[in-house]
Amino acid sequence: MIFDDDLLERCISCGFCLPACPTYALTGEETSSPRGRITLMRALETGRLEPDDETLVEQSSFCLGCRACEPVCPAGVQYGNLLEQWRDHQWQGRNRPVVARLLMTVVARRWLLRLQGIVRRHARTRDSGRPFSLMLGCVERGLYPKVSRAVRRLAPGIQVPSAQGCCGALHAHNGESAQGAEMARQLGKQLSGTIVTTAGGCAAHLSAHLGRDRVKELSEWLVELNAWPDGEVRVDGRRARVALQDSCHLRNGMGVTRQPRELIKAVADYVELPSAGGCCGAAGTYALLRSADSRKVLAPKLAEIEAAGVDYVVAVNPGCLRQLQQGLRGSRVKALHLAELLAQAGNPGA
Ligand code: SF4
Ligand code: SF4
Repeated sequence: MIFDDDLLERCISCGFCLPACPTYALTGEETSSPRGRITLMRALETGRLEPDDETLVEQSSFCLGCRACEPVCPAGVQYGNLLEQWRDHQWQGRNRPVVARLLMTVVARRWLLRLQGIVRRHARTRDSGRPFSLMLGCVERGLYPKVSRAVRRLAPGIQVPSAQGCCGALHAHNGESAQGAEMARQLGKQLSGTIVTTAGGCAAHLSAHLGRDRVKELSEWLVELNAWPDGEVRVDGRRARVALQDSCHLRNGMGVTRQPRELIKAVADYVELPSAGGCCGAAGTYALLRSADSRKVLAPKLAEIEAAGVDYVVAVNPGCLRQLQQGLRGSRVKALHLAELLAQAGNPGA
């Protein structure tokens, strides 16, 4: 059995998910929609299609894994879990894209991640048994060490042990869900207290394995603590205009949408982009594995950002931040992480 029966059977083929799906929007083809992909999964499960079937191979990789099909589904289909089970079967061994294999090998080595800390000088403290620990992430600690330093400015009481591994989301989304779950459990042992994360994708993966109460994404944690920034972000002598790009997994997997908006409104003039809740095309390894499709998903969002007249667009996930920064090269609009924006405004004293 490839899929959990109850998960696969839940779909009633109503099609409510089609308008929410970015890949269906690109092609208009049923096979690129959530319903079409579930039909393909059923064909794989019953043996009507072989795993090397061209359409199966293509669609298992074309899907962004954004989970925008979940909140709109009246039958409660857990599409994210189905996609993990699909790739567990479809992406074994040499069938897994080489780039994904390489990245998975790197992030599974804790000593390599620690080395990044020395080179990139992300925030770090000793583990002294405090109630909150910051998760550094595998991508973010290397690409955006400023983010953990900004969190320390916002919340000097948070501890940031550097001897922590990767949460395993990368493995779970690329055909190794058992190892992804084990890495999440290991990270749960390495960090004490509530785990605070600045990456929406990691938050959703970790909370699925460690429990919703154990894991907080930065914005929900700050709002829960009532830790509001006391200053404001200014540009050219006026209050900054700031938009948000939701993290798909934070929005569609954890339902966190209000908190980052409230925090931005506390320090700047907030501008809601029409597609703020839609995928930016980063989608974990997707921007590397399918860069042309990734850029197609991003293009209309970039046009919206330019038309909105904002100074900043804020991301709550490092992959989205990288995608927006690359897309906005040469633009007057800057992309930055929520923690950096809030740290520019002032210290909420969490
Ligand atoms: S996944 Fe949900 S919304 Fe989409 S066709 Fe199936 S039941 Fe309907
Ligand atoms: S995860 Fe995203 S891209 Fe994949 S089927 Fe669902 S809505 Fe479409």
